[in-house]
Amino acid sequence: MSAGSRSAPNDFSVSEPVPFIDLVQQYQHIATDVQESVQRVFTDQAFVLGEEVSEFECEVAEYCDSRAAIGVASGTDALILSLMALEIGPGDEVITSPFTFFATASSIARVGAKPVFVDIDPASFNLDCGQVEAAITERTRAIMPVHLFGQCAEMEPLWRIAVRERLAIVEDACQAIGAEYHGRRAGVLGTVGCFSFFPTKNLGGAGDGGLITTDDAELATRLRRLRVHGDAGGYRHLEVGYNSRLDALQAAVLRVKLRHLDSWSDARQENARRYGELFRHYQLLDTIELPAVLADRRHVYNQYSVRVRGGKRDAVLKHLRDHQIGAAIYYPIPLHQQECFADLGYRTGDLPQSEAAAREVLALPIFPELQAYQQELVVRGIAESLGRLSRGASIQPKFEFPDQQRAA
Ligand SMILES: *Cc1c(COP(=O)(O)O)cnc(C)c1O
Repeated sequence: MSAGSRSAPNDFSVSEPVPFIDLVQQYQHIATDVQESVQRVFTDQAFVLGEEVSEFECEVAEYCDSRAAIGVASGTDALILSLMALEIGPGDEVITSPFTFFATASSIARVGAKPVFVDIDPASFNLDCGQVEAAITERTRAIMPVHLFGQCAEMEPLWRIAVRERLAIVEDACQAIGAEYHGRRAGVLGTVGCFSFFPTKNLGGAGDGGLITTDDAELATRLRRLRVHGDAGGYRHLEVGYNSRLDALQAAVLRVKLRHLDSWSDARQENARRYGELFRHYQLLDTIELPAVLADRRHVYNQYSVRVRGGKRDAVLKHLRDHQIGAAIYYPIPLHQQECFADLGYRTGDLPQSEAAAREVLALPIFPELQAYQQELVVRGIAESLGRLSRGASIQPKFEFPDQQRAA
């Protein structure tokens, strides 16, 4: 275990758990500011909407370069309210990806419309735009691309289709705040953009929260009304809405964290770059396929998902878990294969790229505070699980480990 006894490279045996995500560490850096901000809300006792929320909405609108931002109770509600504001409901169809978090499609089903799944582009895990056209029927009302893992979907072909077919575009940007496509940010790439502030997102609150961006003033007005029971003011209800507001306490926390978001995203990118170096160093690129960054994108890596080829994903995951190295599968079951969507009539094999991705993906720790040696522990763990470090292979660590520093 000690550095001194590490004469042969194979003796290298630093072993410590690597968390998948470490929100405690992040909080330690910002605790004073967060507490001050939260204290302000308690002093004012203004818990629902109010200035804290409207200030945060302005700041996010500015951040995304959108005209309006409407805070709501969750990312799921952002999607549902957007569909409601677009008057999408029973009899309507919305085209989306099956390889995403459940809420993408459940929001469509929740308003009574039908999710129509189009397979993904295997390189980006995002909607394969080339297949969207063939899925359009007279009932299609909208396309809901997902910017999965923090990288924007290919939008230009969708814009052309949407204009020609008069469809709305609802961006599921829940994993992609700050992501860019051709220099424009997620949230202004469609009719409406939907964000989540679930604690593990890149901008995470102290509980649930969400937000909708739009450049359409009429939609913005309607969304503001829908989140307060369709009340136009003075208990005059123009339509049946919802109770879905962003809490002032959440806004207070999020305003502090928004100021750090870009440096956190830079750190995630730096970690991603370092994984690339490490997988090359350990010569694992024959089995591990790194996430592709498409041209003219800013990938913000809410997740860093590799593919494990050769049917070895589950064995790799088990090895990492056995050694307390964080890893996760997003997502193990594509949505067209979920029991609750059985009545949509999809069969196994219908969306082969999504099904293959579900079998092969493995998300590795990528949180901003992650250190180089921790990443190396992850990669060494993968190398071990593939039998690359146990058969006399001698691969010296690439980065300095704390253990070595102490021994020096
Ligand atoms: C997190 C997430 C949602 C839902 O957000 P909540 O705030 O948890 O309701 C929707 N879509 C995607 C792609 C997500 O990652």
